[in-house]
Amino acid sequence: MSAEHIHLLIIGSGPAGYTAAIYGARAGLNPILYTGGQPGGQLTITGEVENFPGYPKGVGGPEMMVELQQQAERFGTQVRYGLITSVDFSSYPFKAVADEKIELTADAIIVATGASAKYLGLPSEQKFMNKGVSACAVCDGFFYRGMDVAVVGAGDSACEEASYLSKLCPKVYLIVRREEMRASRIMQERVRNTPNIEILWNTETEEILGGDDVSGIRVVNNKTGEKREIALKGFFVAIGHQPNTQIFNGKLDMDETGYIKVKPGSTYTNVPGVFAVGDAADKVYRQAVTAAGTGCMGALDAERWLAARGS
Ligand code: NDP
Repeated sequence: MSAEHIHLLIIGSGPAGYTAAIYGARAGLNPILYTGGQPGGQLTITGEVENFPGYPKGVGGPEMMVELQQQAERFGTQVRYGLITSVDFSSYPFKAVADEKIELTADAIIVATGASAKYLGLPSEQKFMNKGVSACAVCDGFFYRGMDVAVVGAGDSACEEASYLSKLCPKVYLIVRREEMRASRIMQERVRNTPNIEILWNTETEEILGGDDVSGIRVVNNKTGEKREIALKGFFVAIGHQPNTQIFNGKLDMDETGYIKVKPGSTYTNVPGVFAVGDAADKVYRQAVTAAGTGCMGALDAERWLAARGS
């Protein structure tokens, strides 16, 4: 294994990682950014981004990520298409292994590994990704205004997405696999009291139907076995997210669902010198712009922490 020392290591290449890189590079921290397995992160599987300030006409998710990368590189960030496969924070400088072949040491680390939406696992879900299937109503709901849609899930996210969509769409089906919901009472009540949301209890999605785009779904009642086809244009999966933090298990403090804990109002983790930004540490907002914001905070926190150490 070869060895290399890095001043600032950034792990992850979504809006959080690249924003940390832009600020880190401009502050002279010579960041090296490892992209991870999905360079550009979740936005590369999004169609149009219309809610990122500064793009009045909207911008394609993949295009925006290419531009963020170019902006980070312009100031000297070295972007490497590779994976950090393990980390060791028990000694300083910190250790990390890249692609199972380079042993890195780093003076400071910014974790920006993001989160991944969970999907049902239907082949048709992949086929219609961005052509009617989405995991983010706030990102994509606007494209379905005036059309009927469905949301799958029964947690706070599903209720929130259904409520959001009910303001844009004539009819929202909320597909719940049991006869009760996991969501908080207030969220459930909001959904139940919205006339254009219809809750389909004990219901599972068998297939998403369509030609080039989604035209409907086939659902089955798991109590009666009764099947039914519903015409709609948008299918929103809201069955939870999984933060991409497995390699930090036992190394950083996390909540019970794997989100990295940070000191409120900052990006400090429990390990001084290791900072967490973006969706890996945020299960509430999960927006590109909030990820970018915390990416900026991470670079500023790292810069100040390194300066205080004199490095
Ligand atoms: P949750 O894990 O809370 O809920 C996931 C839901 O998806 C469950 O109802 C589950 O059903 C359902 N589900 C899982 N797999 C499938 C499947 N294969 N088919 C059908 N349904 C499925 O995730 P959320 O994203 O909703 O919430 C995550 C956390 O974030 C929670 O702590 C939540 O409170 C919080 N949050 C808070 C918000 C707020 O306060 N404004 C907004 C959004 C989230 P089942 O119940 O049957 O297991």
